[in-house]
Amino acid sequence: MQKEVGKLKIGVLALQGAFFEHVEILEKLGVQTSEVRTVEDLAGLDGLIIPGGESTTMNLLIGEIKKVMKKLPIFGTCAGAIILAQNFMDIEVERNAYGSQLDSFEDDFQFNGHNIHGIFIRAPKILKVGDGVEVLAKNSKDEIVLVREDRYLASTFHPELTEDTKIHEYFLDMIIQNS
Ligand code: GLN
Repeated sequence: MQKEVGKLKIGVLALQGAFFEHVEILEKLGVQTSEVRTVEDLAGLDGLIIPGGESTTMNLLIGEIKKVMKKLPIFGTCAGAIILAQNFMDIEVERNAYGSQLDSFEDDFQFNGHNIHGIFIRAPKILKVGDGVEVLAKNSKDEIVLVREDRYLASTFHPELTEDTKIHEYFLDMIIQNS
């Protein structure tokens, strides 16, 4: 039987980085949330969000959590997408791919028939995707910015920094469809 959105419990990895905005969006969508810092915090979760931040630091901190969290649906934004690429997904990313001058920018593009205003902050670029990876959105420069592979979703932009909840809703739908 499929779960209802209100019954979902989604954790946000809170070891480092910008996790609070994700918690706020999830609350707006009516799901239960919790901050994840230890393996124990992963118990009972239906999904996990890995936020933006500093992927090298986050990779060092996730240590033993990594093995347990890989079984969950995961949505990674920016540094979170880098973590997914380095550990779980068949995608190749380049960190800080927009260099220092252009390290932050905003761009409008389409996703599922909706306009998305994407905020890119020292964003990575997705250079290559494997056969099992679905490209869900490209930005106005035709660069891949949102991808899915099974239960993993990765964006190079920060959907938690706008009022738009579409990408988070998509993640929740992914979980519900598989429940
Ligand atoms: N540049 C960061 C990194 O490589 C990612 C930036 C972000 O998450 N906003 O980890």
